[in-house]
Amino acid sequence: MRDEMQPEMQQNTAEQVGQPTEQIELPVENPAAEPERQPERARERVDVAAYQLPDPIQVRSITVRRGRIVYDVVVADPAFRYTTPKLAAFATRQYPDLPLHACVNNVGTAFGSVIESTSVPHMLEHLAIDIQTRNASAAADTFVGTTEWLDERAGIARVEMSFKDDLEALKSFNEATRFLNTAVITCLS
Ligand SMILES: [Zn+2]
Repeated sequence: MRDEMQPEMQQNTAEQVGQPTEQIELPVENPAAEPERQPERARERVDVAAYQLPDPIQVRSITVRRGRIVYDVVVADPAFRYTTPKLAAFATRQYPDLPLHACVNNVGTAFGSVIESTSVPHMLEHLAIDIQTRNASAAADTFVGTTEWLDERAGIARVEMSFKDDLEALKSFNEATRFLNTAVITCLS
């Protein structure tokens, strides 16, 4: 393969050099070649991205405030915005404490009362809290959070969570987002 490609590349170079005869005489062949390479690399990146499906939950911004971390996320596809019994079961298998979380909602006092039909960002909040609680150094550490739609039609939500350690909070959110993206693709597509 390599042997076949090399003559091709040499031909291309020869063609490029051969067309504008005047340019051969200019001693700026290398600077002229560099701008040609850059768009090629850029094109490769676009091609690779085209083959990768975007994550259902995209993090738009992360803001660390005093004692709490704020995640703005977008769930662009409406099909991925709400939990189902299947998604709830998938998440609970990995995080069994999830339904036991205290949660202010319209149905009950625990996350379990809405886990099968709530917003995916709300589940992200409880997953991040669960992971942060698991990793907390002190067993007595408790964390609280809130979730609200900033623009429900566009699927943009704000998730906030309290923390003791900002890096632990970031790690927990990242792990929760990664898990939930997999869970959503597995259970909702
Ligand atoms: Zn809740």
